[in-house]
Amino acid sequence: MKCGAKFINLRTNPKPTQAMSSIRFKALQEAISRQPINVDLPSNKVSDFFGENVFSHQVMQKYLSEGVLKTLKVAIDTNTSIDRATADEVAIAMKTWALENGVTHYTHWFQPLTGATAEKHDVFLDVSPEGKAMEKFGGGQLVQQEPDASSFPSGGIRSTFEARGYTGWDPSSPAFIFGKTLCIPTIYISYTGEALDYKTPLLKAVNALNNAAIPVCNYFDKNVKKVVATLGWEQEYFLVDEALFNARPDLVHAGRALFGANPAKGQQLEDHYFGSIPERVNEYMRDFETESYKLGIPLKTRHNEVAPNQYEVAPIFEEVNIAVDHNQLLMDLMEKVARRHKLRCLFYEKPFAGVNGSGKHNNWSMATDTGVNLLSPGKTPDSNLQFLTFFVNTIKAVHDYSDILRASIASAGNEHRLGANEAPPAIISVFIGQQLTKVLDNFEKKVKVEKSSGKKSLKLDIGHIPELMLDNTDRNRTSPFAFTGNKFEFRAVGSSANCAQSMLVLNTIVAEQLTQFKADVDALVSKSTSTEDAIIQTLRKYITESANIRFEGNNYSKEWVKEAEKRGLPNVQTTPEALEAFVTEKAINLFEKQGIFTKREQEARHEIQAEIYTKKIQIESRIMADMALTQIIPTALKYQNMLITNVKGIKEIFTTSHSYAGVELKSETSHDGGRYEDIADSQIAMIKEISERVSIIRNRTDQMIEERKKANKIEEATAKAFAYCENVKPCFDEIRYHADKLELLIDDSIWPFPKYRELLFIK
Ligand code: ADP
Ligand code: MG
Repeated sequence: MKCGAKFINLRTNPKPTQAMSSIRFKALQEAISRQPINVDLPSNKVSDFFGENVFSHQVMQKYLSEGVLKTLKVAIDTNTSIDRATADEVAIAMKTWALENGVTHYTHWFQPLTGATAEKHDVFLDVSPEGKAMEKFGGGQLVQQEPDASSFPSGGIRSTFEARGYTGWDPSSPAFIFGKTLCIPTIYISYTGEALDYKTPLLKAVNALNNAAIPVCNYFDKNVKKVVATLGWEQEYFLVDEALFNARPDLVHAGRALFGANPAKGQQLEDHYFGSIPERVNEYMRDFETESYKLGIPLKTRHNEVAPNQYEVAPIFEEVNIAVDHNQLLMDLMEKVARRHKLRCLFYEKPFAGVNGSGKHNNWSMATDTGVNLLSPGKTPDSNLQFLTFFVNTIKAVHDYSDILRASIASAGNEHRLGANEAPPAIISVFIGQQLTKVLDNFEKKVKVEKSSGKKSLKLDIGHIPELMLDNTDRNRTSPFAFTGNKFEFRAVGSSANCAQSMLVLNTIVAEQLTQFKADVDALVSKSTSTEDAIIQTLRKYITESANIRFEGNNYSKEWVKEAEKRGLPNVQTTPEALEAFVTEKAINLFEKQGIFTKREQEARHEIQAEIYTKKIQIESRIMADMALTQIIPTALKYQNMLITNVKGIKEIFTTSHSYAGVELKSETSHDGGRYEDIADSQIAMIKEISERVSIIRNRTDQMIEERKKANKIEEATAKAFAYCENVKPCFDEIRYHADKLELLIDDSIWPFPKYRELLFIK
């Protein structure tokens, strides 16, 4: 125990006493007695075991013939389908490798719209008509499965009785072994071909970006044949001791604390951020990191975050499809490994009101098959024009489609973060830093084009950008979409989200924008403008048109809200409202044109998200009512009775009695002349306060239940989500406010569940 601060917290704060309510007492005792679980690494060199559970290129080289390997690679690179014979060979190789590694089952691993990952395990077994058992797995099983998946959300596309959804192998994301199961990443589509998952549209968006970006790259370099989107996510999360977690119904069922007064010591000292990591947490991190490395997830960074018990993990960036799979896999892994360490990992965006929430920054860029990061400012004027092309087009895309980008991060959990004074606001804007602002300003006004030895060259005066921009000082932590040297960082994504949602939107809008750019440039070229001039003219126009999405100031400030309003930038606070942007004519046209979603898919997905929102608020509301009525109010009344007994006692002691004609008379004046009400005045005030607060909690809870009943009668998913958002959810705040005040008033020893100060400190 090195860290003094944590030592003190533990001693002064979560100290169990016998008198405590028994559940809380036991939980605290358990939590405090925990010891770190030491984790042995397979080797001190991560490279010794990195990717050992992945059906990687190296493994394939060993198990596949050269011909098959080549066919597979070409299919992946060119995004074409794989023939059955190749699939059969790959399946046999996978099976052989898996069996050699002690695997018994296989599963198609996919990402339905529930937000979690899904799997259905089958054993590698077949029994012949003669009764002979053997291990079997062929191309058929690899390529396509039909999980009985009637309960996954489909937004009316696939009614339950049809229950037919197909999973299809995604060869671009490698299969892996998880536990004793071979997991094959797959897409998930309905019988009629509509996407029911996140991966399908993401792959389409990646493809759309590729198609749109190649011709633009070819203005600068004819050799570019492929462009991929890259993603490096930064995952924030909270840890809570398992026993304390289990003692809080709200954490168990809703993933967040619906009640809880702020602790005396929260995050105000900011001593947690980048502070030393507690031993128990450190072992947990080592454990999930080791598992991740075996699965080929290239984790790079770990540190404490701002709030107590909050941490972050980030990998080295990868192609977006793989990065998304790795993030989903990691979240699953982190939850599983946490249990080994008697911890619970919370990905909810705002598990504890009053301290910072969790996000998942999505660092995004585009890279060519020639090894160029398209958002990396180049050293020469020519490569700078290429950089500026992709840079400006991204800003223009965000400007034109900010409502859809905002919709892509909308969720019940993220609603608590966006616009709160700690997370990027619900207003989408772009931060690019002082230097690039200057570059764009100059570019918009004038670009010097010098002729030397017959060849034109651009003087953009940005030759030094690479070095300078990578300096961490030029950062704006408050911006939802910030340029950070060689990538954009979409900071408003929620910590529990599947990154595919925001990434598919970002890639689609940039694809659309690049398509438009190509058309604009070519139109100018056809009027005999040189390509270079056409590019410059078009970019200049875009810089002007998209200027109002750029904001360099403090996004948390009130002034920005006013300024954004003046600029006409939307500030959409609630999820149901934000989601509407997915079904506008503009959005439907965009996704149809880029081949990502049909109108039907778009509407179905919108409906699913509205339903998920409703369900989340519904669950929270039920737990809230349950805890208020069966835990908080009874505890308050118990304490009130203690006070009543106390006041009665005072009255008895301090009331003098005398008798007259044999009848005992009581005077409300005590021996020393004081009245008992004066002596017991604080207790009496507390008795009154408890009654008042209990009555408000009771009334608001009843009102909330009534509103829920009304909302439940609404059939249409969007209208229902609005009803939950506008009529049910607003009751939460008042109920909580009074319950938290009671927590601060009532005898600590009878408070029924662990308090923030106990939940938020880990030894
Ligand atoms: P921070 O924002 O905390 O300073 P870093 O600058 O280290 O973090 O990067 C955060 C993430 O951005 C990492 O996952 C990193 O791999 C990723 N990243 C770096 N370059 C790119 C890129 N070209 N494309 C996508 N992600 C990138
Ligand atoms: Mg970051």
